[in-house]
Amino acid sequence: MAISEIQIKELAAQCGFELAGVAPAGPLIDYSRFAQWGEAGMAGGMAYLTDHRGEMRSDPSSLLPHVQSIICVGKLYNAPSDRVKNADPVHGTISRYAQGEDYHEVLRGGLKALVAKIAAVHGEPFGSRVCVDTAPLLERSLARAAGLGWIGRNTCLINQSSGSWFFLGELLLTIPLAPDTPPPDRCGTCRRCIDACPTNALIPTDKGGSFLDARLCISYLTIEHRGDLPPGMSDATGSHLFGCDICQEVCPWNRRAPITEDPAFQSKIPTTSLVDLAAYSDDDFAHTFRRSPVWRTKYSGFLRNVAVAMGNSGEEGMREPLQILAESTDPQIASAARHALERFGPAQQVCAESQ
Ligand code: SF4
Ligand code: SF4
Repeated sequence: MAISEIQIKELAAQCGFELAGVAPAGPLIDYSRFAQWGEAGMAGGMAYLTDHRGEMRSDPSSLLPHVQSIICVGKLYNAPSDRVKNADPVHGTISRYAQGEDYHEVLRGGLKALVAKIAAVHGEPFGSRVCVDTAPLLERSLARAAGLGWIGRNTCLINQSSGSWFFLGELLLTIPLAPDTPPPDRCGTCRRCIDACPTNALIPTDKGGSFLDARLCISYLTIEHRGDLPPGMSDATGSHLFGCDICQEVCPWNRRAPITEDPAFQSKIPTTSLVDLAAYSDDDFAHTFRRSPVWRTKYSGFLRNVAVAMGNSGEEGMREPLQILAESTDPQIASAARHALERFGPAQQVCAESQ
C-alpha cells in the first residue's frame, strides 16, 4: 500500500520532529532572489553558496534524480541556558542553537529513522536522500513551501505556534505526495528585528522583505569569517563568542516559543568566564566543544572571538590575559589580542587616572 502524507507526518513526529510538511520537488522560484543576494556579494566569504554548488540550489533533482516530494522537518532546540544573554562581558555569549550537541548528527539520525519507518509502510521500492544544512538546498524556501512557516524580516523561518528556534532538515523522496500550502507572511508592519540589529545587517527590500548581508552579521563574523574581523566590526560583536540571536530574541513570535526537553539540546556548555576561556589550550577546547556546533570555529577562531570580546568588555582585569594571548604563536589569536589591547590604552595611564 502506498504511504500517505498523513502517515509520513505521524512517522516524523515519532522520530522526534515537532514540525513536518511536504514541499513540491520542482525548481524553486526563490532561486532568483538567492542568486541576486549572492551576486550582490552578501554571502561574504561563503564560496559554497556562490560557486557551482550555489546553482544546484535551483533544482532539488540535482541531489536526487526523479525526486517527487520533499519532506521538510523542524526540530526545536530552545532550552534554558545561562550562556545566551546578549550582553555578558564576563562570560561572553554563545548562540542558543549551539548550546547542545551538534545538530547535524541528531537530525540526520532522526531522518534516517524516518526513512526506515516509511520503508516499513510503503509497499514499493523508492529512492531517498537525507539532507541537513550542508546539502545545496534552499532550506527555508522549501520549509515555507511545506507549510512550516513564513520567512520573516530577520530571514528566519517563523512558525506561528513555535516561533523560530528550530533546526530544519529535509528528506527527498521519489514517492509522489500532495504538497502542503505555504502560510501567509505574518510580519505585518513590524520591523523590530531590523531596528534591533546592532550592525544593520538586515537590509529592507522595496517588496517588504529583507536581505541579510552576511558581511555585516555577527553570526557570520564569529562563525564563518577567518582572520582579523573587518575594520569597525570588532566593536559591534560585543560579547558574542559564537553566533548572535538578537534578531530572533526581539521577534514577538518567539515570546511564547516552546522549550525543548530533548536531552541532545540541553545546554552542555559550562559557564566559564572569558578570562578562563582565554587560558584554554587546544585540548581544553576540544574537550569542551568537540561535540558542539562551536567546533566549527576551531580553536584559533574561538580564541580570536574570546580576545575580541575581552577587548569589548572594557574590564581592566582582561588586560593581563590579553597580553598573554598577544604572544600566541597563532597569528589570528595574537592579532585579535593586540587589537583588543589597543582599546585599553597604556596601563600606567589608566592607573594614574584612577588615583
Ligand atoms: S544575527 Fe545579529 S548581527 Fe546578524 S542579522 Fe541578526 S541581529 Fe543582526
Ligand atoms: S521581529 Fe517582526 S519583522 Fe522581524 S521577523 Fe519577527 S515579526 Fe517579522
